[in-house]
Amino acid sequence: MKRDRYTGPFSRTSLPAWRCPSCIEGSLKLVPKSLLIKETVRSLSYHGHEDWEPDWTEENYSALFQCIHCGEHVFSVGKTEVVEVYDDEYGWCLESALQPTYFQPAIQIIPIADECPDDVKVELKSASSLFWTDLSASANRIRTALELILTHKKVKKTQITTSGKRKALSLHRRIELFKAKDAQLAETMLAVKWLGNAGSHTSSLNAHNVLDAFELLDHVIENMFVEKLKKIRKLTKGINKKKGPVPSK
Ligand SMILES: [Zn+2]
Repeated sequence: MKRDRYTGPFSRTSLPAWRCPSCIEGSLKLVPKSLLIKETVRSLSYHGHEDWEPDWTEENYSALFQCIHCGEHVFSVGKTEVVEVYDDEYGWCLESALQPTYFQPAIQIIPIADECPDDVKVELKSASSLFWTDLSASANRIRTALELILTHKKVKKTQITTSGKRKALSLHRRIELFKAKDAQLAETMLAVKWLGNAGSHTSSLNAHNVLDAFELLDHVIENMFVEKLKKIRKLTKGINKKKGPVPSK
């Protein structure tokens, strides 16, 4: 994952090559002259203050991007942040860099495999969309995607207590149950769960923590639903178990 694509602010002169949400193959390019930046009324009112500094500036932007491969258009809005940039002619100067809060249609943080179940895809798309504006909510969606994955893998959601009542199992307990099937992947799931929990209980998550969660979940999805990887894992397991070649089918 190219993390610098997702951790702004982004200089207007070197915007990341975000992946197109429609064709996934192409990257997005800013449509010339589409970028509009407007300073807020409150920010304008500060200009007369004797202590005014450029970093007091508050601006919002809107911009249009287009995929260089399929031509899809993607709209973005967000804020700006004053950053120092190096200019060959003028040396170090200040620039309003872009900090997106929304993309429509949402750009995908991780490419979602076709084999991934639809309900998991929906949660991952939401997680990608929310990433720019609410990291905790994004991490929560990733956690929900993990719950759904366990359901697809037939890990039970409830159990009957000694008093005969049906009780919902926690995500932690469900991951423990999955351990019997694949201990290594269960470990990865547990890490996703801790990050998801942090999203629910605190606001201390930063963009890198949430990108970690995306990356770990991507690993889980690839190993569970992508046929090629599943075959390789099965083959590896078989050969190691026999400590030699397995009969070919
Ligand atoms: Zn495209």
